[in-house]
Amino acid sequence: MMNEKMTSAFLDQINKELYSEYLYLSIKAYFLDLNLQGFATWMDVQIQEEHAHAMGMFNYVVERGEKVVLSAIDKPESSWKSPLDAFKAILAHEQFVTSKINDLAQVAQDTNDRAAMLFINWYIKEQVEEESNVGGVLAQLEMIGDDKSALFALDKELSTRVFVAPVIG
Ligand code: MG
Repeated sequence: MMNEKMTSAFLDQINKELYSEYLYLSIKAYFLDLNLQGFATWMDVQIQEEHAHAMGMFNYVVERGEKVVLSAIDKPESSWKSPLDAFKAILAHEQFVTSKINDLAQVAQDTNDRAAMLFINWYIKEQVEEESNVGGVLAQLEMIGDDKSALFALDKELSTRVFVAPVIG
């Protein structure tokens, strides 16, 4: 059993994580269109992480004896001005998700749900890592500017990113 407010906050966050997956899939399509295979691979890891974030909460709601009810996922943007512009959008989105996770933690605190607070702590730490990872690539893109050969070198570097399934909770 879980407080109704807590359950509905989790369901809302599941939707946000699935939207993140959808947005990053759209950004992957943008990179593939530019023939930036490494950037696309980097996004692939991001997509799988967002799916894992959603499923972590999905499983937690079930574990607490509540039913998961899904809602519509918003249509993501499909084009950006440049890879730099796309990464600015990713960072802004992660900052938004961080604020949503903080809101979720606030609901857990308001409803005095200690178990949910412990569970949400993992996501609070994960957001620090997300913002740092995205910020790192963004800083490199800012340095690169219009240098095409530097962009292709970064593309090669990003192609090495590998998904490691997170242990959530
Ligand atoms: Mg996420």
